[in-house]
Amino acid sequence: MSGASERPGPARARVRRVLAALGETYRGASTALVYRTRWQLLVATILSAQCTDERVNRITARLFRVAPDAPSLAALSEEEIAALIRECGLFRSKARHLAATSRIVAARWGADLPPALTREDLMALPGVGRKTANVVLANAYGADALAVDTHVFRVAHRLGWSDAPDARRTEEDLLRIIPRSQWKDAHHWLIWHGRRVCRARRPACGTCVVARWCPSADRVGEGQPHDAPGRGQGPGIPEPHPGDARRAGRAGALRVARSDA
Ligand code: SF4
Repeated sequence: MSGASERPGPARARVRRVLAALGETYRGASTALVYRTRWQLLVATILSAQCTDERVNRITARLFRVAPDAPSLAALSEEEIAALIRECGLFRSKARHLAATSRIVAARWGADLPPALTREDLMALPGVGRKTANVVLANAYGADALAVDTHVFRVAHRLGWSDAPDARRTEEDLLRIIPRSQWKDAHHWLIWHGRRVCRARRPACGTCVVARWCPSADRVGEGQPHDAPGRGQGPGIPEPHPGDARRAGRAGALRVARSDA
């Protein structure tokens, strides 16, 4: 980035210290979603938008008994799927997406997602946005990806690592300042930190292991980032429409200086 109006991003050393502290605190952290196959992770991740992982796990425990793979889910009607997932927020639209996606996957690949898949392949499926694709790529394929959900968004903003207004541009900021080798782990560390300590309403700054490097420590609610845009809509911030990727690339959209990467 260049230009007098552009703000400097967080100092590289500070980011490194925060990542080290989070890595120590949340060593071995991984997704809380329960799944046995790549397909099941995709289904669980689609269901997790605006729904807690605990609730998703309750739903998928039932759903996967009836329909453990893509062909068996494709054999159900949209109404039957809706009845199985109705405990979930947005269950009607999720049922529609799952019905369509299961048919595509069953016809193209069979029971499970194939061993190799691109983000574009995933995002071409109904109900799969960038965040969902990143979760599946990182957890099921071991790819370097960093999904931005409501917790990652909130913690990143409070730490001063991004002031971007949406998940897509926040992801770009994080990919610049976090070493690629830590993208997958940082996603889990930030999620667990957001759930356990840097909570939306009452962050526990007094016991936070990264408070000394956090510009928002003890200041949330005093003009510091409180939560994701649209606060109160529950877990999961809206994923931008694929067309937003073009806007995300506009000059001036990025808030973190390249020199901090
Ligand atoms: S110091 Fe407070 S605002 Fe900053 S990361 Fe920790 S809990 Fe969140």
